[in-house]
Amino acid sequence: MHKLLKDDPGAQMVLLGNEAIARGAIEAGVAVATTYPGTPSSEISLNFFQMSQECDLYFEYSTNEKVALEVAAATANCGVRSMCMMKHVGLNVAADALMTLAYVGVKGGLVVLTADDPFMFSSQNEQDNRYYGKLAGLPVLEPSSVEEAKDMVGKAFDLSEALQEPVLFRTTTRINHSTAPVTLGPIAPRKTKGYFQKNPMSYVTVPAVSRTLHVKLLKNLDKALELSETSPFNFVTGKGKWGIVCNGVSYGYVMDALKDLGIGDRVQVLRIGFSNPLPEKKITAFLQSCDKVLVAEEGEPFLEEGVRSIAQGAGLTLPIRGKAPELFSRLYEFDPGMVRKVIAGYFGIDYAPKAKLALTDIPPLPQRPPNLCAGCSHRATFYEVKQAAEGKDVVYPTDIGCYTLGFLPPLGMGDFLICMGGSTSTSCGFSKASDQKVVSFIGDSTFFHSGIPGLVNAVFNNHNFTLVILDNGITAMTGHQPNPGVDMSLFNLGGYGRISIAEVVKALGVQHVSVIKPYKVRKSIEAIREALDFKGVSVVIAEEMCALFAKSVKKAKGKPFMVGDKCKNHRDCVNLLGCPAFYIENDRVKIDSAICVGCAVCAQICPENAIVPMKS
Ligand code: SF4
Ligand code: SF4
Repeated sequence: MHKLLKDDPGAQMVLLGNEAIARGAIEAGVAVATTYPGTPSSEISLNFFQMSQECDLYFEYSTNEKVALEVAAATANCGVRSMCMMKHVGLNVAADALMTLAYVGVKGGLVVLTADDPFMFSSQNEQDNRYYGKLAGLPVLEPSSVEEAKDMVGKAFDLSEALQEPVLFRTTTRINHSTAPVTLGPIAPRKTKGYFQKNPMSYVTVPAVSRTLHVKLLKNLDKALELSETSPFNFVTGKGKWGIVCNGVSYGYVMDALKDLGIGDRVQVLRIGFSNPLPEKKITAFLQSCDKVLVAEEGEPFLEEGVRSIAQGAGLTLPIRGKAPELFSRLYEFDPGMVRKVIAGYFGIDYAPKAKLALTDIPPLPQRPPNLCAGCSHRATFYEVKQAAEGKDVVYPTDIGCYTLGFLPPLGMGDFLICMGGSTSTSCGFSKASDQKVVSFIGDSTFFHSGIPGLVNAVFNNHNFTLVILDNGITAMTGHQPNPGVDMSLFNLGGYGRISIAEVVKALGVQHVSVIKPYKVRKSIEAIREALDFKGVSVVIAEEMCALFAKSVKKAKGKPFMVGDKCKNHRDCVNLLGCPAFYIENDRVKIDSAICVGCAVCAQICPENAIVPMKS
């Protein structure tokens, strides 16, 4: 049995934040969960995916976050508790649905989880999604610890049903990826079937209907404000004339800092866990009891702006600071030492940071630039495109996935990237505005996510570029989740459809479509050359399973290779491919047999035929 399905109230379990969130939803009786995978939220979905194979929970990896939210909006409006998870930038994709869903509301609880990523450990920006709550007029809850995250999910469902609105559940990487003990609660029964009560005047958002729904939304927001005032997630601890307002992981850092600085008896802390709408009366009372206040929050000055505005409304003039060059930054993640230093500086406490540990004895970590894995077929495809395009002035728009790393040397294949699916649409622009050749890259999952509309645009407007679809048979970057092109029998699962990318592309009207096997270097280069020569939109589909996924589903072929006696040591293999299986020993090129997957791409590019399979 999946460990998160264990019905053992009171038992303690050590869980990852994302596991705790999934468990909290199970305890709350979630019956439908939808997602598009994205770090730092991915393990929530993975656990739901696994659990759905053992119980009547419905889970799906949807085509993109907008689709995921729309599916969950429908199930929640049948009265079924539903949850939709995504990383922070995913909410940009889902925003179109979210903004109007806020008007329509829900019947069964709907929790929309956004996993924000301060410091951009695995993201293209570090946007602060609390503003989405404000923009949409939806309640926002933010946990401060792994255990609270589990318990808060259940309360988020209750809140959603009380207000008949989706609730935005905002986490940050440090909560998602920390591990801590949690106490299990009882698992509520799952209501997997509901009923959709038709009412076009509530659900069909033509302007006349939406005008009344906006009034309803604002009334709900007033109710949410009352609940925020009395919410146990917004609480004051400690006493004294100095005040700190904080949220999320900053709360833990603040409490540790007060203890370490020995000023616990001089500082009151207002922890905000229900952060939209902000509890105005509670904040006013807090400010009235303080001489000066510091706001500690990662990301944007969301709380700080709210607290200042409430102070202004109440005619309070005490100093309220948060983001400033000498205080907290709007950049990156906080850490305990930094929070301690800022608190000490703001309140004028003598503080000598602990001497840093002497690390002189420890050898420096080897520098490891990010790289595609050994045997990754994307490396072969990039090499082949480069060869096919030799001598041409080419712009390479790229997209979100493992293959983004192709922009690094020695491949250098990637010139422009802004968001999921952006490569197809930006290729239209580049090919229109310049005479350069345009060759863009997109992965299979990203193609289904949001690449298709750009390709439709390209065909309709008769643009001129080559799109290379890197089909590695899985959503690799986020940890091998399925997408509509994946063969689900690899997971031993039936009951799924499978969509052929080639058929989709042809059906869109692309006139030149070729499928290559990137491990076959010469043939692939020829096919790509033909595609580049085509006037109009051409598509090359590079099909080869992700090397890591192939290993995990026991589909890996090939024996490791080695560098033999014919090697002339000119290092074309290293310099053109940059495969991490190569290393240099005694000034000679070697192949690490432990990580070589036997793709044989390097063997095909070695002009001396010096790279040969190892004899077993
Ligand atoms: S995980 Fe798969 S697709 Fe990603 S770099 Fe590694 S081999 Fe390539
Ligand atoms: S390309 Fe061939 S000959 Fe040149 S260094 Fe590599 S293995 Fe040796």
